[in-house]
Amino acid sequence: AKWVYTFGDGAAEGRADMRNLLGGKGANLAEMASLGLPVPPGFTVTTEVCSHYYANDRQYPGELAAQVDAALDHVAALTGRVFGDAENPLLVSVRSGARASMPGMMDTVLNLGLNDVTVEAVASSSGNRRFAFDSYRRFIQMYADVVLELDHQDFEEVFERVKEEQGALQDTDLDADALANVVERYKDLVARALGKPFPQDPKEQLWGAIGAVFSSWMNQRANTYRRLHNIPESWGTAVNVQAMVFGNLGDTSATGVAFTRNPSTGAKELYGEFLVNAQGEDVVAGIRTPQDITEAARKNAGSSKPSLETVMPEVFAELVQTANRLESHYRDMQDLEFTVERGKLWMLQTRSGKRTAKAALRIAVELAGEGLITEEEAVGRVEPAALDQLLHPTIDPKVARDVIATGLPASPGAAVGEIVFSSEEAEKRSGEGHKVILVRVETSPEDIHGMHAAQGILTTRGGMTSHAAVVARGMGKPCVSGAGGIRVDEKARTLTVGSESFTTGDIITIDGSAGQVLKGEVKMIEPELAGEFGTLMGWADKVRRMKVRTNAETPADARTARRYGAEGIGLCRTEHMFFDAGRILAVREMILADDEAGRRAALAKLLPMQRQDFVELFEIMGGLPVTIRLLDPPLHEFLPKTDAEISEVAASMGASVEKLRQRASELHEFNPMLGFRGCRLAIAYPEIAEMQARAIFEAAAEAGKKTGSPVTPEIMVPLVATKAELDIVKARIDAMAEAVIAEGGVPITYVVGTMIELPRAALRAAEIAETAEFFSFGTNDLTQTTLGISRDDAASFLGTYVAKGILPADPFASLDRDGVGELVSIAVERGRTTRQSIKLGICGEHGGDPDSVAFCEEVGLDYVSCSPFRVPIARLAAAQAAL
Ligand code: PEP
Ligand code: MG
Repeated sequence: AKWVYTFGDGAAEGRADMRNLLGGKGANLAEMASLGLPVPPGFTVTTEVCSHYYANDRQYPGELAAQVDAALDHVAALTGRVFGDAENPLLVSVRSGARASMPGMMDTVLNLGLNDVTVEAVASSSGNRRFAFDSYRRFIQMYADVVLELDHQDFEEVFERVKEEQGALQDTDLDADALANVVERYKDLVARALGKPFPQDPKEQLWGAIGAVFSSWMNQRANTYRRLHNIPESWGTAVNVQAMVFGNLGDTSATGVAFTRNPSTGAKELYGEFLVNAQGEDVVAGIRTPQDITEAARKNAGSSKPSLETVMPEVFAELVQTANRLESHYRDMQDLEFTVERGKLWMLQTRSGKRTAKAALRIAVELAGEGLITEEEAVGRVEPAALDQLLHPTIDPKVARDVIATGLPASPGAAVGEIVFSSEEAEKRSGEGHKVILVRVETSPEDIHGMHAAQGILTTRGGMTSHAAVVARGMGKPCVSGAGGIRVDEKARTLTVGSESFTTGDIITIDGSAGQVLKGEVKMIEPELAGEFGTLMGWADKVRRMKVRTNAETPADARTARRYGAEGIGLCRTEHMFFDAGRILAVREMILADDEAGRRAALAKLLPMQRQDFVELFEIMGGLPVTIRLLDPPLHEFLPKTDAEISEVAASMGASVEKLRQRASELHEFNPMLGFRGCRLAIAYPEIAEMQARAIFEAAAEAGKKTGSPVTPEIMVPLVATKAELDIVKARIDAMAEAVIAEGGVPITYVVGTMIELPRAALRAAEIAETAEFFSFGTNDLTQTTLGISRDDAASFLGTYVAKGILPADPFASLDRDGVGELVSIAVERGRTTRQSIKLGICGEHGGDPDSVAFCEEVGLDYVSCSPFRVPIARLAAAQAAL
């Protein structure tokens, strides 16, 4: 079998598409060599050797030694140097290189092949004795650290001692003799620690380094990294052995890194840093300040150190040419490593460069504009979730973060403000021109006005679909929920973390994308949506099959969603429309009334307001579909709690406080999420559904007349478990439609459908579809009821579940494909057997999560619906899912 692949001098046995076998680094070195780029010759020991090594009790394949020898001969032929030769020795670097970049593994050993004999040869052939011994001491130190696993601190100490003895301040103050002395002491140190001398045989050194790379594949850090990033152990790593080139041979030598485009802005300019007379590790070590590559960047940074463009104009020209060549060859922005040895450029690495969301967008659009990639490819190049970074203010990445607590990243973006502990305070202070962060144990529907007034929301309880999280996402406000390390005392108005305490007016910053709470005011950057955003979104829209709607009930949210490209409303939660100051009272009257007449009186107050709400939504949506869900409140959310609230309702209803208090306690539920909510309410109190249906039909007629385009409302019944429930409610809706048509003399079209958010509804979808004209999967409740995990109380243990690998992710954020997903698939299939053309959508929070959107494409839903600020994410995710 072939275990070793050579490259160099315009040819290679490997290719870029062999990264599974050769690792990312090895495959790209081979590709660069084949392109005729200046790559120091070398060879790659394949990942299959790694697998063999672990499958066979850490033994190498029998043919490996001979293949490595042959490869060394090949390198010797290309370089004119021989490994271990006393006169003209070949020195090599040894590097690991897995398929995916893998921090934690052994990285690099440089200058391998040096020993007491070859160091002298290097000294005379380079004409630089200091360089030779400096290379030797670096080699021993690196080898001792990563291969022999000796404590590098001991070596640092020796080095510092020699510097002291010599009165040297900088490493560079040590001359050749001093460095030779360091080498002697290093060798002593190794001999003492190991009980045998530092290996002088270059072959032994090489096999030691190869073994160290393979062993590091299974070290603790690599194992952890693999687990976190889902990298299978079976992939293995390759080992790259390459002739050394030296960036530290004087002022005509240098080493550096460069990106073919600016990785933070995406601008098309060579961007990077280099150091004259240095080896690769010096750039990373940050001991000397690196210099800019281009003159433009130097001027921009106001640096007094000359650029590569001026110090080495020819090298610079060749680097520019190489960068362009590599970028067009790989058709993506590249991250390059290079070394200049006595005026000659050598390329050591190329790979697709990491970049910010902003840069990703610009680069994708510009690469397509340049014809390097297609529009469809550009759509695939931007991470949908990264768009979040672009749509909200974010914390300046350059500033240090003083994180005092962490919670869930419930709604993205960052916000700064004074702490307030109640919605009243939030409204009052923000009315006075202050920016506030609403801090609560948890929020309830009564906090809507406070949430509106606040810049951001912080709660200590509640998960990704808790009230605070859902509403904040809808409003596009940053929210950190479930920050369990914080203690909030709403009465005493204190927020305590450990021994630190904060009170009303103290300033905090929250980062809803990272789930962090920071002390004080932290600098922000505002989003800027350049033209590329619109361009890429346009391309995404051409590709996708599924429609993208929004979950919205306020005109502001509906307009925002339209701006972001929503194609209708997939969920209008009517209960959210009832928390406005003027309404909650009437809602409470309705709930607390003990007979139908009482309820009807309260409903009569709500009807005109509700009708006006719908007229506005229909107008904003201008003929696009609007799905309105009948009232679905867990009742406790509406109940008056304080004495003042009870007295207010009592006065308004003309009932006694005592009686109301009793009624409220009758309505108290132990498990409100599974209590008197959803269609159960419409069945027990049909007048509520009737009022809502009337408001919808009258509004549809009015908006249709006003705008000239007919409105076909989609009326949705929540929390249905049986066909009978839906039949009863639909009959009421149909009767109301007839009545309104008769009164107004205008024809009205509408459809009636249901949420599928209970396992029984998913299983009985075939019969439910006899009545339902559409299904909308309410995956928040479906997740809650399928896993039996309360959506409001999950935060305390879900983190542990994910950390232990019991669940791959928070199922309220990313759809549980295996369980909830199977129920969705079943419902899709059974629903379609009854009603082939049944319209299918999703309106749980998963509608804005890219992985879940991909699932929706797989099962063939017609649309996804998500909060307004996630509409662009869903559009891009739907496009990628369709590619
Ligand atoms: C759901 O359950 O997924 C849903 C959309 O409804 P709500 O979040 O209002 O319960
Ligand atoms: Mg629901």
